[in-house]
Amino acid sequence: MNVPFACKNCGSETFKSTSEPKSLEDLYGAICANCGTAVSEDDIKSHALKIADELARDALRKVGFK
Ligand SMILES: [Zn+2]
Repeated sequence: MNVPFACKNCGSETFKSTSEPKSLEDLYGAICANCGTAVSEDDIKSHALKIADELARDALRKVGFK
């Protein structure tokens, strides 16, 4: 399962952060490498919801729901 985190402003998936992000929370405060938009806590929360949603859909597909 891979839902890439994308910049809310330009859609870029490349971010500059002080350390290598190992989890979603590590992206907090990172800067978009393309347009310079900072990642906010809300961005991370909404992305986490998106991942949860994708996981749920994936689980439903596996048991035969379309
Ligand atoms: Zn951007």
